[in-house]
Amino acid sequence: MRVSYTKLDTYKQCPRKYKFYIDKAPQDPSRTMALRFGTAVHKALEFAYAKRYKYPPKEKVMALYRTLMSEETNPEVLKLFEKGESALEAYLDKNEVAHMRIVEVEKKFSMELGGGHQIEGIIDRLDMLPDGSFEILDYKTGQIPNAENLGQNWQIAIYQFAKQRALQTHRIKASLVYVMFDGHKLTYQFGKDELARVRNDILSLIAKIEADTVFAPRVNVFCGTCAYQPICPAWTHKYNVKKQVLTGKTKDPVVVDIQAKIDRLLSLSASIKRLEDETKQLKEVVALFSRENNMTRLFSDLGTVSVSFQKKRAYDAARLAEVLRENLLRKIVKTVDTKKLEKALPYLSEEERRQIESFITEKESTAISVRPRVDDENQDLLDL
Ligand code: SF4
Repeated sequence: MRVSYTKLDTYKQCPRKYKFYIDKAPQDPSRTMALRFGTAVHKALEFAYAKRYKYPPKEKVMALYRTLMSEETNPEVLKLFEKGESALEAYLDKNEVAHMRIVEVEKKFSMELGGGHQIEGIIDRLDMLPDGSFEILDYKTGQIPNAENLGQNWQIAIYQFAKQRALQTHRIKASLVYVMFDGHKLTYQFGKDELARVRNDILSLIAKIEADTVFAPRVNVFCGTCAYQPICPAWTHKYNVKKQVLTGKTKDPVVVDIQAKIDRLLSLSASIKRLEDETKQLKEVVALFSRENNMTRLFSDLGTVSVSFQKKRAYDAARLAEVLRENLLRKIVKTVDTKKLEKALPYLSEEERRQIESFITEKESTAISVRPRVDDENQDLLDL
């Protein structure tokens, strides 16, 4: 497979979005606003720093940016462009070519990952620093994210990995540059083990993509800005309903019928949820009454309520995880599945079993069953 960071990240976000992306499905232009602005800033910065020995003056770079801005018609994108104008100018002032050693700009790379897979991409800029080491720069036009997760960022990890291989040096760090925020940088240098982990994770994801035949939509926080939303199965019905309302087609019997059924299903589900909540609260009250009065069965004209008090074993998940062997049983103890654990106990060593036994506690639980008697006489009482 030939993958890129964008492809992998898109799949992680949503498999269906990935499928749309690789199939080059049509995009909704009203949902690519941020992309158009980002592309313009990248083009301006490429122009500013790409032509070694013939760097253009700032005025020319800004003129290119303004030309790109003049091609935009959407008022919201224009607002972004206007905000970006002063930010870009400030970035150029602060990052004059005379004080930099630019090695590469918008350079493509392609790297063998193993298993016959290749990863490719384009790195915005590579600078040489005064101490002879290198810095990869990736321009961002969005908000500054939490810096704590930088070590999990596949994009800069891939770039560092590719450049390390190409330049045969480990003296490389990678920075995300937030152009709209005074060129604020988030910098990270991945260690050997971290890069190996990212590579393994990428290979696992590739295997997952290769095995995927469904590419199911995964509704997520990015749906609102997803350029494929109008053709996405998770959203098309919403578009259809909107269109039908707008075009006055709501009298179509099929549409009216299914809409009524959807409404009924949702209303029933909401009622069930309310009833379940109420039932849970009532069970708690009734169980308390039973316990306090030492009664295990309660009667009414509508039927019987039986209450039983039991003791169930509970395991301390954190301590259990310390004892269990890697890979074999760790999955079981994310939350302790007592049944699975007790099945697995015979496969553990005596020492492991002894340790587990030492931190078993007993938790009291209450089981309550409600059996309504449904007949004509009490039907009225049961009607909701
Ligand atoms: S709209 Fe949401 S669910 Fe549909 S493809 Fe885009 S990201 Fe995935």
